[in-house]
Amino acid sequence: MAKGIWVFAEHSDGSVRKVTFEILSEARKIADKIGEELCAVIVGNQVEALADKCGPYGADKVYVVENEMLNQYTTEGYTKALTDLVKQHQPSILLCGATVTGKDLFPRVAARLETGLAVDCTDIGLDDSNQFFVKRPMYAGKAYAEVGFSDATPKMASIRPNVLIPSPPDESRKAEVIKVAVEISPDDIKAKVVEVVKIAGEKLDLTEAEVIVSGGRGMKGQENFKILEELAEVLNATVGASRAAVDAGWKLQSEQVGQTGKVVSPNLYVACGISGAIQHFAGMGTSKYIVAINKDPEAVIFGKCDYGICDDLFKVVPKLTEEIKKLKKD
Ligand SMILES: Cc1cc2nc3c(=O)[nH]c(=O)nc-3n(C[C@H](O)[C@H](O)[C@H](O)COP(=O)(O)OP(=O)(O)OC[C@H]3O[C@@H](n4cnc5c(N)ncnc54)[C@H](O)[C@@H]3O)c2cc1C
Repeated sequence: MAKGIWVFAEHSDGSVRKVTFEILSEARKIADKIGEELCAVIVGNQVEALADKCGPYGADKVYVVENEMLNQYTTEGYTKALTDLVKQHQPSILLCGATVTGKDLFPRVAARLETGLAVDCTDIGLDDSNQFFVKRPMYAGKAYAEVGFSDATPKMASIRPNVLIPSPPDESRKAEVIKVAVEISPDDIKAKVVEVVKIAGEKLDLTEAEVIVSGGRGMKGQENFKILEELAEVLNATVGASRAAVDAGWKLQSEQVGQTGKVVSPNLYVACGISGAIQHFAGMGTSKYIVAINKDPEAVIFGKCDYGICDDLFKVVPKLTEEIKKLKKD
């Protein structure tokens, strides 16, 4: 019988990504209630040192799957590594972050395992009969569905970064580390990663940022994004954009938030000169606090935000930056 909750532990630049700790912390509560083990799975090359990071957030065991061919993330290599391990151990639940990697990897793994996958979830839990369920937005965030699973296992789900709260790490908690050898031949990986190019000075990826300052058509030009960058600097935020700003060529597509851009869930989302179209909201509606700066009192975003400032953003944003700078000095 399938048993155990597994979390795919994503890592980059030698660190386990925060979303892994968020999922482990919540999955720990579920594991305790149903009396199953909680395991993390780290896939890569020379990644054993990362295993120690998972125990303090609740993992009982960490499977470390290493192979030289897993040095870079590739869909095919990671799919094979994870699928082989899951087939061998048969966990009941398999979770990952709804990050670029998670969204690429999990559908393929689910297909190989012939099981279902709930994507982009905003919560996980147990129902009254201790059955695992997830919560996910539907219709571009207009409604939320509680989704149960059929008997196929593992029950798979990807969870948005920043929606679950990580427990304070208990450093006295150590997980058992299990090294797993995986056989991968060059033929298994058809697409080769030639080079990873980082954009100079890029802040935390939008999907992981805790604070985002976004600009829309109201910014009126690429050069005006400078004032958002200054606000982002004092808030330690990442800058995003609406599709209108991206289509105008002011920002990159990788910086677009929304239905056809990135789905983000920061603690704070500051929308500047953005009207609040449903397609934009689909990408940021689960943000904990939404602040809107817009000069049109009728703008739709004022019906969707926690705090609204109805004024010219070119007056408000520099003032806000100045005031936050002052507060930080005190
Ligand atoms: C299939 C599909 C997918 C889409 N996907 C996305 C997506 O992923 N992301 C996305 O964002 N959109 C998406 N869109 C487009 C979406 O419908 C809207 O057109 C877009 O979000 C509008 O962007 P905006 O709010 O920046 O511009 P507008 O709607 O033009 O709003 C600009 C706002 O700026 C305000 N403003 C102007 N000047 C100032 C000032 N000086 N001070 C303060 N406020 C000011 C105005 O009052 C206005 O409210 C999609 C559309 C479709 C059909």
